[in-house]
Amino acid sequence: MKYPKTQRRYCKHCKKHTEHKVTIYKKGKERSKAEGKRRYERKKKGYGSQPKPVQHNFAKINKKSTPVFQCTECSKKSIGKSYRVKRFELIEV
Ligand SMILES: [Zn+2]
Repeated sequence: MKYPKTQRRYCKHCKKHTEHKVTIYKKGKERSKAEGKRRYERKKKGYGSQPKPVQHNFAKINKKSTPVFQCTECSKKSIGKSYRVKRFELIEV
């Protein structure tokens, strides 16, 4: 799927239509000291095999791609509608 790199859309902070820069959402780095991670590390310690099941079979083939819009006037970000597509690319219009 092709998506425009810039878009003119409504900004709820500026309360008007402004130019927005479009990027693709990427998952942030996982915190190593988060409660779930610490619990998992504790469970994995010592003898024995993998304590929790690891998922190998997935019902869906494609992951969701989400566009992130950044207002060029107030530089606030908002996210758009996500799509399950094989290829999600940004193009110059
Ligand atoms: Zn704005």
